[in-house]
Amino acid sequence: MTTDIPTKTRSRWVELVEIIEDARRRYYLHDKPTISDTEYDKCFNELLDIESKFPMLKSLDSPTQSVGGARSEMFEPVTHLSRMYSLDNVFDDQELKTWLDRIDKDLGQTPHYLGELKIDGLAVDIVYRNGLLSSVATRGDGTVGEDVTYNAQFIPSIPRALTGKPPSLLEVRGEVFFELAQFDQINSELEKSSKTEFANPRNAAAGTLRQRVDRREEEVAKAQANSKSSEKRLATLRTELDDAITILQKLRLTVHGIGAVDGAKLASQSESYQLLKDCGLPVSSHYQVGMDPIKFVTYWQEHRHDVEHEIDGVVIKVDNFELQRKLGETARAPRWAIAFKYPPEVVTTKLLDIKVSVGRTGRITPFAHMQPVKVAGSTVEMATLHNEQEVIRKGILIGDTVYLRKAGDVIPEIIGAVESLRDGSEKKFVMPIVCPSCKTNILAVKDADVDLRCPNAKSCPAQLIERLFYIGSRQALDIEGLGSKAAAALINEGILKNEADLFDLTEASLIGSEFFTKAVSAGSKSNQINMAGEKLLSQLEIAKTRPLWRILVALSIRHVGPTVAQTLAKEFSSLQSIISASGQQLASIDGVGEIIAESISEWFSIDWHQDIVKKWQGAGVSLEQTAPKLLSDHLTGISVVITGSMPGYSRDGANEAVTSRGGKVSSSVSKKTDFVIVGANPGSKFDKAQELGVPVLDADGFAVLLESGPSAARSHLGLS
Ligand SMILES: [Zn+2]
Repeated sequence: MTTDIPTKTRSRWVELVEIIEDARRRYYLHDKPTISDTEYDKCFNELLDIESKFPMLKSLDSPTQSVGGARSEMFEPVTHLSRMYSLDNVFDDQELKTWLDRIDKDLGQTPHYLGELKIDGLAVDIVYRNGLLSSVATRGDGTVGEDVTYNAQFIPSIPRALTGKPPSLLEVRGEVFFELAQFDQINSELEKSSKTEFANPRNAAAGTLRQRVDRREEEVAKAQANSKSSEKRLATLRTELDDAITILQKLRLTVHGIGAVDGAKLASQSESYQLLKDCGLPVSSHYQVGMDPIKFVTYWQEHRHDVEHEIDGVVIKVDNFELQRKLGETARAPRWAIAFKYPPEVVTTKLLDIKVSVGRTGRITPFAHMQPVKVAGSTVEMATLHNEQEVIRKGILIGDTVYLRKAGDVIPEIIGAVESLRDGSEKKFVMPIVCPSCKTNILAVKDADVDLRCPNAKSCPAQLIERLFYIGSRQALDIEGLGSKAAAALINEGILKNEADLFDLTEASLIGSEFFTKAVSAGSKSNQINMAGEKLLSQLEIAKTRPLWRILVALSIRHVGPTVAQTLAKEFSSLQSIISASGQQLASIDGVGEIIAESISEWFSIDWHQDIVKKWQGAGVSLEQTAPKLLSDHLTGISVVITGSMPGYSRDGANEAVTSRGGKVSSSVSKKTDFVIVGANPGSKFDKAQELGVPVLDADGFAVLLESGPSAARSHLGLS
């Protein structure tokens, strides 16, 4: 092997690395590109070429070894430079003392500790190269996360360039979160625009960081380029994009650790925090060094609500790196750090009333109406009580003071009553005998049913609203303009009698509606529909072309959710052929069975259900299976697994390249796999392929497979 690298080669290598890093940065940060995609690929290939001749150049600093190895897309997998461990937890002082004693014993001394708050946000891994932002990824499984660099560029507290004298490579760990004040504001705005609110600040942070801002930008660009697209649509798209960016800008970052680092000598956790501060990275102002761990835990348990963000505990770390190394880590977590988790917050509030709601399938569910109270980050005034038995089991009376918490920090749950506070005025809950919405007598559909239902599926307003809302939901037709408030307006204002006429809605039918018409001045209405109306109409058009399985889900047939619907859509080419299928035919399908088959046959036998199908068809809703366009069929019967990122393809793009030629893409390697396609940074699937002797194709081999089929790909590998 050559060991001497000619000076010319070395300087060309440096030059190429700079060009590529710069291009990547601009790409990620949405700056103007300096080189074209072709030039980029040429430089990258030249770099690969040099490194294959001089492997010692393949250092950690080379772009060929970094994130993805190729320009990655939003949510593409990113392998962290060093693993992100989770932390072990303790839940009380005694457990913490046991942990501290073990540290003393293992080290033969009591170390200095660093204590910090455990922010309830979303963990991220950020890489800076030569002081410039290179990538941001979610934690994922600790080894591989998702690329969120594109969205992260909008978060002001994530600097694009570091200050001071940053090390040449710096991998930083931190938490992205919303301050409580921001969170409350976001939720109140979501409520105003009739969107679903976030359950807690952590969910809000995760949801916000995972928005497809890139797609929204593409949509705006497309609409701008298309002379036919209306001003209105362009304006709507622009507003949506602006909203998405505005909320991203409200996210904050706090950093609390370092992963891989090159070009800095650090002796302790606290020293690394000083470096992070000097680099201009946001370090929490609440950390402390050399404190008493027990006192630290107790102090913050009492003051957890004095911080601007939600915390779910504190973290205690051994400060000195040498001692950290001595303690090492388990397979899951470091031995030198521990998280003290505070118990889920339990609050008390007044149970004002128990009412019942009517679900999509007519199910009557009692729910608690309480004095609004703040718990685990958000204000709660309602909690489901599931059914009558549950109310009895909890032993709660209307007028009681009740204990309330959030199960899993998300779902409000009444634990029980504070019986000592009763004054005799409390009342027992009595399940109503008629539906609160349509006054039909409610009943148990089957004798053994715990649940009671309103049998008036055809015209019970509450059920109609829930069904419409479900049609618009993500699992069904994904109609953004059809949220709960829009659904309620359509039924309550008499615009729709039921879902049959949904796709016949026009501007004219929405005019005059309280919800869908622009207000001119207080009290009076214009004759123009507002943004909610426009959105609904344009989204309904798109929904008409959704795949067959989504239409099936939208019909609200009992037991037919997304999974069953997809199974049915695979077996049948159209809704008509499902309707014509016999019960026996349906029942014999794997994953359907008799009960579901019966439910399907029964649904289609009802006249007003048939009317829904007829009217949807008349309005242009596609009830056929639209077969994916086949480019060729030379991969028919071939099963492949794709791992790592393929240059020139997004993850979906690479899959589609295979399926559009008749092939199948699987997620795991087995003996039945014909080829494993390996891109940059392949995972364990590559090892599995080798183990099973499955042929492995690189990018070139993949191109051969797509172009000329499996036998050409085999001979490309020198196999017969
Ligand atoms: Zn009813």
